[in-house]
Amino acid sequence: MSCSADDSHGANIRCFGVGDGWPAADRKPSSFLFRFRETTLLVDCGDGLSSAYKATGLSYDAVDQILISHFHSDHVGGLSMFLQGLWLERRQKPLTIHAPAAGLAALQAWLEATLLPPELLGFPLHWRPLVAGEALKFEGLNVTAYPTAHLDSLRHRLQPRYPAMCFDAFSFVFEAAGKRIAHTADIGTVEDLKPLLRQPVEVLVCELAHVAAGPLLKTLADSPIGKVIFIHLGREFWSDLPATEALIRRELGAMPFVIARDGEQFAL
Ligand SMILES: [Zn+2]
Repeated sequence: MSCSADDSHGANIRCFGVGDGWPAADRKPSSFLFRFRETTLLVDCGDGLSSAYKATGLSYDAVDQILISHFHSDHVGGLSMFLQGLWLERRQKPLTIHAPAAGLAALQAWLEATLLPPELLGFPLHWRPLVAGEALKFEGLNVTAYPTAHLDSLRHRLQPRYPAMCFDAFSFVFEAAGKRIAHTADIGTVEDLKPLLRQPVEVLVCELAHVAAGPLLKTLADSPIGKVIFIHLGREFWSDLPATEALIRRELGAMPFVIARDGEQFAL
């Protein structure tokens, strides 16, 4: 696995925010830029995305699609500020936002609440509900969303009182140039990894916060994975990285892995 600042020719991931949702001075909430040969996607839009994106120097037409895995604020809290940036930087290209269906109307209402109606933006903005198991086909890239149990306990507790709240959450599999890349986003159980790891993956971008590390790492060790990029570490793991690295190394054996920091870019 390589980590470099200018690895822009092959497919790569840039980590804008590897945080876990708690306030942190040294990492931002979830946001990742996946660049494949012909298609560039933003996966989640946590707080801080706007400034992190500006720092890349990339064009504001560079992002082709936005995927929102679920509606926790650390995954969607920076969306309206990012869209305000696209407006002010005079983006021209159409943009599609893919998100769990039950939350789309609320997100559109939020853009209105933040004074970003469609006619102001200056570029066509489209909305598409994520459908479990359906392959989205983009230029040179297929993306499939798989539901996770991340919000199931919250759904159980809150849905009766808040029927309009969206409790769906998704992981993603990217297929491009003969490679499978998987991104867990937030999961709820190791079972959520099954559809991602049913076939070999070149790279797994994997959270380490919501599932006990022992069973999670054991599942990874037994799976056909080329490399693991760990993100979204729970605070107990982030606060002692040498111990966390030792734990992961012990469980994964020779499987290559890295713990990502904000701003880092990795080849896929
Ligand atoms: Zn979450």
